[in-house]
Formats: sequence, structure tokens, C-alpha cells
Amino acid sequence: MVIVGVVIALSMAAICALVLYQSRLDAMERATETSRNLALLAERDIERNFELYALSLQAVVDGVNDPEVMAVPNHVRDIALFDRAATASYLGSILVLDAEGNIVIDAANKAPRQGNFADREYFKVHQDNPNAGLYVGHPYASRLRDGSLSIPLSRRISRSDGSFAGVVLLAVQLDYFHQLFAALSLGSHGSVALMRQDGTMIMRQPYDEKVIGRNIRNASTFKHFLTTTEGSFSDTSVIDGVQRLYYYKNLPNLPLIIMVAEAHSDIYAAWRHRALTIAAVMSVLATAFIGLSFAFGVQLRRRMRAESELAMLARTDGLTGLHNRRTLGEILDQEWRRARRNRSVFSLLFVDIDRFKVYNDTYGHQAGDDALTAVAKCIGENIRRPVDSAARYGGEEFIVVLPDTSPEGAASIAENIRTAISDLAIEHVGSEHGHVTASIGAAVWTPERDMDVSAVIRAADEALYSAKATGRNKVELSTSHLA
Ligand code: GH3
Ligand code: MG
Ligand code: MG
Repeated sequence: MVIVGVVIALSMAAICALVLYQSRLDAMERATETSRNLALLAERDIERNFELYALSLQAVVDGVNDPEVMAVPNHVRDIALFDRAATASYLGSILVLDAEGNIVIDAANKAPRQGNFADREYFKVHQDNPNAGLYVGHPYASRLRDGSLSIPLSRRISRSDGSFAGVVLLAVQLDYFHQLFAALSLGSHGSVALMRQDGTMIMRQPYDEKVIGRNIRNASTFKHFLTTTEGSFSDTSVIDGVQRLYYYKNLPNLPLIIMVAEAHSDIYAAWRHRALTIAAVMSVLATAFIGLSFAFGVQLRRRMRAESELAMLARTDGLTGLHNRRTLGEILDQEWRRARRNRSVFSLLFVDIDRFKVYNDTYGHQAGDDALTAVAKCIGENIRRPVDSAARYGGEEFIVVLPDTSPEGAASIAENIRTAISDLAIEHVGSEHGHVTASIGAAVWTPERDMDVSAVIRAADEALYSAKATGRNKVELSTSHLA
């Protein structure tokens, strides 16, 4: 009962654990999906804006290369060079630098601000490489705009002979990415970042100015970003040590990588809460279940014991402890059939106490009961084989069933019983023998005889009557088996 209870409780717990494990996997899958969608949203926005910036840059380069445009008065020229995009939000300066790096045209001022940017990385790139195309530079703090953080987009201006004539620069304020990423909701420990393909951090949410421009190319996470165009994996951030699920994508048209990372703690927060609740309820239920099966098992055992005790009592004679008449019927039935089947000898003794009515009258009913018990004990002690059985037939009469026992064996056992009763030496003044004695009639059935068990009992009873008639305290063997 307890084992079954434990097995059922364990199975329930196992099923529960399996379902929880499955829902944990589902949580991870959902998080990957969310990250991919957020990255896609950000990517679309960035690509679209950068396409506009690139077109504006190209318009300036084309205008600068057009002598007619350059010939008109400055304010007309500027209208041709800088379209309305120049006033777009998040756009910093748009500058045209000459071959020495000096500002020659400034979209924001009629008189260009003073400045030389020959030392800037983007300037050198275009100076050294005629085919750099649209160049996305490293983040920098603007000298013209109070150190506002920007990244430069730039194109080279070449003369007709291909020599270097300067650079057109468009500064995109990092605030653009900052606002874009801040709008993406990614849990309290999530992170979104945009970086150059060389590992330079352009923007990261949660925002920390110190991280901007930092190169993370040696971080284990960044190494993943370069293996495929896009993908996802779990790792621990070098920046804040938080374990996250990373989704990354190399933008198709820009040398940039976008990364969306949701913290494991956020992904599993709801799941953990649910798992803890279910596990707690489950353990209470399992413990209660095991406890109940234990209690039920104890109760069942107690009941079974009581039932077997009752069954025993129902089969036993209350006074003597021998089999009762009902059990005798069963035993006779069973042993009789066995004897006939095996064609074996079957013996039966009929024991009756001598002058017992007088004994009762003389010594009282209680003394009679005690003598009956003592006699029954003698009978029980003188049958030793497990197949032999003794029963109280009624009153002071007993029947002993002796399967597979010869007439000699039966006579010998009967004699032993008679002697044992006589040897009890219980005083009985009303008896001719002076003490309690019993007479025994024995009958034997042999396989060649055609008779039923009641005939055997009757034969034993007749032999008993004969013993009574010829002096009592003796064994008489029925001769019916010889007939
Ligand atoms: P006999 O030698 O011829 O057998 O004489 P008997 O007096 O034993 O004759 P019988 O067998 O007819 O008498 C049976 C008596 O046994 C009747 C009753 O007084 C007594 N008796 C029967 N059952 C019980 C019992 O359960 N307890 C007691 N104390 N006496 C019983
Ligand atoms: Mg009798
Ligand atoms: Mg009697």
C-alpha cells in the first residue's frame, strides 16, 4: 500500500517536473522570438534613416563637384547642397572639408565655423582610400556641439583626375539610437546594443556613457556575432556579468551589428514563480498522498488481522480450542474426497467421556467444563501429523480424523488418547473407574469398500456404543472394514 502510494506520488511528481521543464523550454523559445522581433524593428528604423542620410551625403558630393552649383551665391548654393534632411532630428553637423581638413561649407551656418578635422579617422580613411564609399566612423564627442556624442557618416570628394579634394561629413547624434533603444521594452535586465563590425560599441541600453566607443572585440559574446549573419546563444556579458540570451544580426547594408539580449532572470521570472508554486503544491499533495496511503495501509493490515482472527474464531470451538462442528464438516469432506481419489485408508475415532452427566451433577457444570477442556487437550496432544485433526462433535463427544491411517495405527492412537485421559486422574466418584475416563470407537475405511463418510461415522459410533456396553474406558475397533 505504502509502496504503491510512493510510486504514484513519485510518478505525479515526475510528470509535473516534465511539464515544468517543457514550459521552461517554451519560455526560452518565446524570448528568442521576442528578441528577433525587437531586433528587426530597430534594424528597419536604422536602415531607413541611414539610407536617407546616405542620399543627403551623395547630394552634397554631387553638388560640390558641380561647378555651376559652386558658382552661385552661397545661400543659393546651400539650398542646392542641403535638402530638408539637413534639418532632420538627430542630425548633427553637415560639413564639407577641403583637402587639408578645414571646414569650407557648413550646413548650419552661413559663415562656416572654424575648425580643422584632418586628424579625424574618417578624414584619413577617405584621404588614403578613394574607394571607401559611405564610411561609418567611430563614435566621437563633437568639438562644435559641446561634446555631444555622434558617429560620422562620410564620403570622399574626388577631383576629376581622381585626386583627393576633401570629405563631406554628416554627424548622426547617438541620441537617435539612445531614444530608439529606450523605446524597446526588454525586461529590467535586458540589453540592446549597436556596434561596428570591428567591435566598437556605438550605443548600448542600459545606457552608460563609458561604454560608448569601447571595443569589445575580445569578448566571447562578440566572437559569436561574427560567425554568422544572425543567430542566438546564451552567454554572460563582459560589461555587467549578467547571463543573457543573445540575438544578433549583422545589418545587411551597413557595417553594423545589432544585438538584443534578454536576461535569463527576466525570461524565467514568470516561469520560476509558477514552478515554485506548482512544486510547493505538488510536494504537499505527494506528502499527503504518501501519508494517507500509509494510514490506509495500517488500517488495512489491522482490519485483515481482525478478519483472520474472526475467521479463526468461527472455525474453532470456544471452550476446547479444537475445531468446531462446522470445520469438522469441511475437513471430513476434503479428507474423504482425497482418500477416495488416492485410494488410501481413512480412519476416524469417536471419543465420548464416560458418565459425564453424573460428573456434572456431582461436581457442577464449571468443573465439567474444566474436565472437558483437559480431555480435549489430551486428544490434541496425541495427534501429531499435520493432516490429523480433532474436533468437538458436540457436548462431551469428539471426533478425530486420521487420513491415510491403518486400523492398527488408528487403534494405537485411540489407545494413547484413552490412556492420556485416564492418566489425568481427575476424580469422579460416580464412575466405576473412580476418575474421568473416555470410551473410544474407531472405524476404518479401505478403498475396496463402497460406503460414504457418514457410514464411517456411524460405524465408529457403533463401536463406541459397544465400548460403553462392555465396561467403558476402552477402545473398540469397528469390524465393518473387514466385512
Ligand atoms: P456415558 O458414559 O454413557 O456416555 O454417560 P454420560 O453421562 O456421559 O451420557 P451422555 O453422553 O448422554 O451425557 C452427556 C452429558 O454431558 C450431558 C451433559 O450433562 C454433559 N455435557 C454435555 N456438554 C457439556 C458441556 O459443554 N459442559 C458440561 N459441563 N457438561 C456437558
Ligand atoms: Mg455423549
Ligand atoms: Mg458420555
